[in-house]
Amino acid sequence: MNNILISRNPLDEQEVGSVKVASNDDVVTAVNDAKQAQIAWGKLTSEQRAQLIIEAFSRLNRVQEQLVNLISEEMGKDHRRATYEVMGVIQSASYLCREIMQAIAPVKKPSGTKIYYRPLGVVGVISPWNYPLAMANNLLLPALVAGNTVVLKPSEITPLVADMFVRTLNEVLPNGVLSVIHGDGEVGKALVASNINMVAFTGSAAAGKHIMASSANKLHRLVMELGGNDPMIVLADADINKAARFAVASSFENAGQMCTSTERIYVDERIHNTFVERVVEIAKQYSVGPWDQPRVNIGPIVNKKQHQQIIHHLKDAKEKGARFLLGSDDYLPPYIQPTVIDGLTDEMLMAKEETFGPVVAIDSFSNIDEAIMRANKVPLGLGAVVFGESNAAYVAENIEAGMVGINGGPGAGDGPWVGAKESGFGYHGSLEGHRQFTQVQVISA
Ligand code: NAD
Repeated sequence: MNNILISRNPLDEQEVGSVKVASNDDVVTAVNDAKQAQIAWGKLTSEQRAQLIIEAFSRLNRVQEQLVNLISEEMGKDHRRATYEVMGVIQSASYLCREIMQAIAPVKKPSGTKIYYRPLGVVGVISPWNYPLAMANNLLLPALVAGNTVVLKPSEITPLVADMFVRTLNEVLPNGVLSVIHGDGEVGKALVASNINMVAFTGSAAAGKHIMASSANKLHRLVMELGGNDPMIVLADADINKAARFAVASSFENAGQMCTSTERIYVDERIHNTFVERVVEIAKQYSVGPWDQPRVNIGPIVNKKQHQQIIHHLKDAKEKGARFLLGSDDYLPPYIQPTVIDGLTDEMLMAKEETFGPVVAIDSFSNIDEAIMRANKVPLGLGAVVFGESNAAYVAENIEAGMVGINGGPGAGDGPWVGAKESGFGYHGSLEGHRQFTQVQVISA
C-alpha cells in the first residue's frame, strides 16, 4: 500500500477523500503517546472520565450530517440507516458511560475482600467497514471509560468516518487519550505487534485468528467479535408471515453485509412451500439502487472484491443444483439484486462460509434434530434464529451460537454481544462485557 489511502465511493469508485497511511514509526509513536497519556487518564475517577467523554460525544451533534454522508459515500449505506447508526452512537453515549461506570465500580465481598476493575493500559481497537462508526464505538467507549487509552485502526475501506469521529472527540479529550492510525491489515498487524496491552477487534474470523496468534507471545488481552454464518430454523407451528418477513429483512439488511444477517434457512417441510412463496413475494418488494434515492432499501455492495465473492457463492450454488426463485448468479457491480434460492445443501459455499450479500438461501427439513445438526455444522456461531412455538426453546438451547433470537433477531440491548465457536473470543456489552476491558485485581486483608 502506498502512503496515501484513497477512500472510494462504491457507486462509481470516485474518490471520497484520502488519509495518510501510518508508517511503522507512526504506529510506535501513537502507542507511546497513548502510554504516556494513560498515566493521567487512568488516575481520573471514572466519573471524571465519563464527564469528559459525554462532553466529547455531544460535539458529534455538530458533525452529525457529515458523518451520515461519509458513511453513505464510503460504504454505500442508505441515508436513513446511516442516520440511525450515527444517532445511535451519539444518543447511547451517556447511558453507556453510566453502565460502564457501574460495571467497573469496586465490589466488596462478604469476607471483606475487594475486587477492583483497573485499566489495562493501551487498547488497540481494530474495526471493520460494515458499521464503520458503531463497531469502532462499541469497543473504544468501554476501553476509555475504564481508564485505558485507545489507538484506533479503522477499516481501510472507511477511514474518513473514523477520522472525523476521532478528530471531533479530540476537541474535548486530553491529548493522546484517543488517536487514529490508518492503513490496511499491515498497519493492523503493526499495531498488534506494538507495545499495547489489549486488542479489541471486530472483523473476519481469518483476521481474528491471525491477531490471536500474533498476540500470544505478549499475552495481550483480547476481545474478538468475528464473522457469522447465522442459521434460521422455521418450525411447523411458526407464524409463517412473520417468519418470512424476518427472513427477508435479515438477509437483505445493509445489503446483506451484517455480521448477524440470516445466511441459511431451514424450514419444516410441512410449511416449506407456503413459506417460500411468501418470502419471494416480500423479496420482490425490495428495491436496489444508489443510497441517496428514495425507497431504496438495498444499496451497492461495498467493493468489487466483495461483489465477486457473492457472485462466486451464487455460481457455486447454481452448479450444485440450487433453484433460483428470484434473481440470478449474474449481476454487474456494484449491485446484487434481491435473490432467493431454494435447495441449499451443506456442500454449497453459501452454507459453509459467510456470503455477506442480499441472498435468502432456503432448504427444508423433516426432523428438528436434523435441522439443528445442519445449523451447527459450520465453525462459526455468532447469532441464530428460531421461529415457532412448542419446540422453539429446545432448538434455542441446542444451537451452537452466542446469541439466539426466538421469533425475532439475536442479541439483546442489555445482554453481551457474544459469539460462540470461531465467531468470538471475549465479548463486549453489558456489565460482564464492559469488565473485559479491565484488569481484575483482588485485594484481601
Ligand atoms: P476484516 O477482517 O477483513 O478487517 C477488519 C479490520 O481488521 C480492518 O481494519 C483490517 O484492516 C484489519 N485487519 C485485517 N487483517 C488483519 C491482521 N492480520 N491483523 C490486524 N488487523 C487486520 O473484516 P471486514 O471485511 O472489514 O469486516 C467484515 C467482517 O467483520 C465479517 O466477517 C463480519 O461478519 C465481521 N463483523 C463481525 C461483527 C461482530 O460483532 N461479531 C460485527 C461486524 C462485522
